Amino acid sequence: MGGTALKPAGVVRKVDQLGRIVLPKSLRKRYQMNEGDPVEILVQGDHIILERYRPRCVFCSSMDSVGEFKERYVCASCMSEMKEML
Ligand SMILES: [Zn+2]
Repeated sequence: MGGTALKPAGVVRKVDQLGRIVLPKSLRKRYQMNEGDPVEILVQGDHIILERYRPRCVFCSSMDSVGEFKERYVCASCMSEMKEML
């Protein structure tokens, strides 16, 4: 999101019976969304925002330096806090 204003991508699509919409190839290319890539759905007021999925820290939701620990994602800063507690 980055704090920038939302702007129309110049595309209008209809939702199908199953609630699906097709992302135009040009957008998929521009945002490097390939078949099978996970996409996260975010909401902001009246808006539904699609974002390429990146794991978030289970504790603070940060996406920075997130690593996997016992099948959970934990960021470097929470990881170091945990280490300090030991
Ligand atoms: Zn964290």
